[in-house]
Amino acid sequence: MTQKINDAHRIQPRQLDMPPRLLLGPGPSNAHPRVLQALAMRQVGHLDPAFLEVMAEEMELLRYLFQCDNEVTIPISGTGTAAMEASLANIIEPGDVVLVGIIGYFGQRLADIAARYGADVRTIEKPWGQVLELDELVTAVEQHRPSVLALVHGETSSGACQPIEGIGELCQEFDCLLLVDTVASLGGIPFFTNDWKVDIVYTGSQKCISCPPGIAPLTFGPRAVRKLEQRKLDVSNWYLDLNLLMKYWGNPHVYHHTAPINSNYALREALRLITEEGLAARWARHLESAELFWQGLERLGLSCYVAPELRLPSLTTVCVPEGVDAKKIAGRLLNEYNIEIAGGFGPLAGKVWRVGLMGFNSRRENVTLLLEALRQVLP
Ligand SMILES: *Cc1c(COP(=O)(O)O)cnc(C)c1O
Repeated sequence: MTQKINDAHRIQPRQLDMPPRLLLGPGPSNAHPRVLQALAMRQVGHLDPAFLEVMAEEMELLRYLFQCDNEVTIPISGTGTAAMEASLANIIEPGDVVLVGIIGYFGQRLADIAARYGADVRTIEKPWGQVLELDELVTAVEQHRPSVLALVHGETSSGACQPIEGIGELCQEFDCLLLVDTVASLGGIPFFTNDWKVDIVYTGSQKCISCPPGIAPLTFGPRAVRKLEQRKLDVSNWYLDLNLLMKYWGNPHVYHHTAPINSNYALREALRLITEEGLAARWARHLESAELFWQGLERLGLSCYVAPELRLPSLTTVCVPEGVDAKKIAGRLLNEYNIEIAGGFGPLAGKVWRVGLMGFNSRRENVTLLLEALRQVLP
């Protein structure tokens, strides 16, 4: 060997030991201890019969979570954005009119991704903190005649919850597919994929499902599957092509990419916790802790940015009082109390804090802890 090994980057970092943070920002939330335990389970191969069983159970557990019977219901290997991109990549053919409802940052991301897949993107916008009314959507659909209407259910940037009921019927009337982002809401707030006639729904693992990030469920209903089958062109994203992915998740279980085995164990356990608790109890728990938090804020003289009837229980935007440095307060919560909350961005930069009460973290004791810590650090 004539080459000399370069040792310049051969550092000796200490053994990993992360601070014990309570994650009350817009995500990730803390995973349930049982989920972390599942993550550490011994590995098998991604085509091992034991793993195929895990996959089949996961798909069935996901149908409960989504409240649907859709055959195409799988987790994507990647974060919520990967499921967002998978949903759009599979459903868009160049030139398709895609109408995107923008009530915050994630609507903009949908529009950006849709444009990259060649969609003719039209948008309908509301200021951050507000939502789209059904009659506004009727007018927009009549005007644009889109093949897809894309909406964000829980808009994490603003803290508003977009009502979805009634929009599915509108879309069916106009032969348009309804796509909904539930990354910050599914598992925490009522959502009925079948009953609300939503064709495409995706979520992430690390918010109300309380599983570490890196795996992101989605579901495609029959109308979306038909559009997929009738495509003239191949899906232009190979990794996220559902035709290929379903040959792995369904029969004949052929290799496409190596599934992140341990992340799937973790998601299965997180979903098992959801079925144990039951969706009704889980939704009630999220609402109760959010209401407790909102009442506590009021006692501290703080107000919420979003009107009560539009507020997202899983994520609250809290108005920063005049003269208070939002960053400094969040920094003190992190450094002195090990509590993570986030600031606002875009039009809400410096104006709000974003507080998540998601999944396992949506509990009374966490609300009490945060309120008391806030009381101590606020001037
Ligand atoms: C967090 C979030 C995403 C993106 O998910 P990542 O896991 O960060 O990729 C998309 N949409 C909404 C509404 C979100 O809150």
